[in-house]
Amino acid sequence: MTVLAVDVGGTKLAASRWDGGLGEVHRVATGPDPWGALCTLLDPLADGVEALGVGCGGPMTWPVGEVSPLNIPAWRGFALRSALADRYGVPVRLHNDAVCAAAGEHWKGGWQTDDLLGVVVSTGVGGGIVSGGRLLDGAAGNAGHLGHIVVDPSGPECGCGGRGCVEAIARGPALVAWAAERGCEAASGVELAALAANGDALALKAFARAGHALGVGIAAAASVLDTSVVTVGGGISQVSSLWPSLWASVAQHARLSFLAGLRVMPAVLGQTAGLVGAAALVVEGDRYWSAG
Ligand SMILES: [Zn+2]
Repeated sequence: MTVLAVDVGGTKLAASRWDGGLGEVHRVATGPDPWGALCTLLDPLADGVEALGVGCGGPMTWPVGEVSPLNIPAWRGFALRSALADRYGVPVRLHNDAVCAAAGEHWKGGWQTDDLLGVVVSTGVGGGIVSGGRLLDGAAGNAGHLGHIVVDPSGPECGCGGRGCVEAIARGPALVAWAAERGCEAASGVELAALAANGDALALKAFARAGHALGVGIAAAASVLDTSVVTVGGGISQVSSLWPSLWASVAQHARLSFLAGLRVMPAVLGQTAGLVGAAALVVEGDRYWSAG
């Protein structure tokens, strides 16, 4: 079955044809006209495909697929699923991008487990859950949204309106802001990561602090879910100085006997996890798509 897999992000749009495996990945900038950019990307790839599988930044109403991505201000309540179905004349399945990434890791990451929590740490902190071998949706498709577990009730304000969420501490821009307040001149997560790689003490501390917050949140989620594998992907996860404090805080907080074998590991599919998961919504619908 030939599927067009699509990953809609605030900065980049990515797409690839799936035909037993992922083909060449095409990318364009999201820009100020995301629908125009998306059509430019997909039109040359859509010939002969039988369905579209799409991951998109949240929040959204699922499964109807009306999206209001935090990082795409041009879309508020935009009916992306039906707009794509109208344009390409094939069925479209659409889910949260972090949920797709979790599905992709479960399907093709080689973890050999029925219970996996997939976490994505980049501009935001999201996640998705596979439980009993099936993708967990929640009432509105947002199950697994680990970024808003509160790890420090008196911590920094969060974009959700709350305080001390994992995302408020561990999202890339929060790391950069925290370091800037202490005199660091890094203007982006990439620059901060470069400083950390060179042993800059403040940059190392920023990633250690994020790792600690992620570990606390992951320990909490793992105990609720009784999960056996947690994968952590996204740009921030590729910074090695994040991991020692993340693992230490998981070890400190995930203490129940049923969590003794918990594996918390870097995601293996990297930037393609979302596309693989988007394809899985269609190709492996029995496991990863519960809606109509
Ligand atoms: Zn929050």
